[in-house]
Amino acid sequence: MNFERLYDVLKATYGNLGKWWPGDKEEILITAVLTQSTNWKNVEYAMENIYKLTNKERLLDFLYKLPKDELANLIKPAGFFNIKAQRLKNLLEFFKKYNFDLDTISREENLRDKLLKIKGIGKETADSILLYVFEKPVFVVDAYTKRILNRIYNLKLEDYDEIQELFYKYYPKDVQLYQEFHGLIVEHAKRYCRKKPLCDSCFFHKCAYFTSPFLTY
Ligand code: SF4
Repeated sequence: MNFERLYDVLKATYGNLGKWWPGDKEEILITAVLTQSTNWKNVEYAMENIYKLTNKERLLDFLYKLPKDELANLIKPAGFFNIKAQRLKNLLEFFKKYNFDLDTISREENLRDKLLKIKGIGKETADSILLYVFEKPVFVVDAYTKRILNRIYNLKLEDYDEIQELFYKYYPKDVQLYQEFHGLIVEHAKRYCRKKPLCDSCFFHKCAYFTSPFLTY
């Protein structure tokens, strides 16, 4: 299957996922860090703990003011809680400079570079924030993206930028498209293309994972 068709095929299978990443912009800022190396259920448990003490309107300011140890305690369910608490603190410190005004931050030049300078914010997290919070047309690459490129297209790419460039080459830079496409890839990797893939019931059945390399680019 041509790489250009991947989005349409996934969408035809999983339906219209829209923005896909749940929550409002402030919540996505937080969950983008919490979701590192854990599953979404654990992120929800951590957010439930936070919402026992505050509400959506005060979320960023509340977390900014909360002592790091207390924050770590609240987000325990998300794992690596001390590291994530520090990363959240670093991120919130950056946003505080703008008084948590997301519109102002969105207009910053070289925002990606600025986010990447924050300790603990790597490319995947920075791009998730750019795409889902600030609605910039950047493609988010994660382990699922690598797995699917590897299995369906026999592309053994590891370099983040190289994979991102591949999507830029074949798909227009479009926020809605990239938001949904990333979600579709995650859905496919969770439902069928798991670590141990469910190929017998997968609609890609006989992808490059089973057959000889089948490259169209
Ligand atoms: S056939 Fe198997 S390896 Fe190929 S996409 Fe489906 S689940 Fe993944």
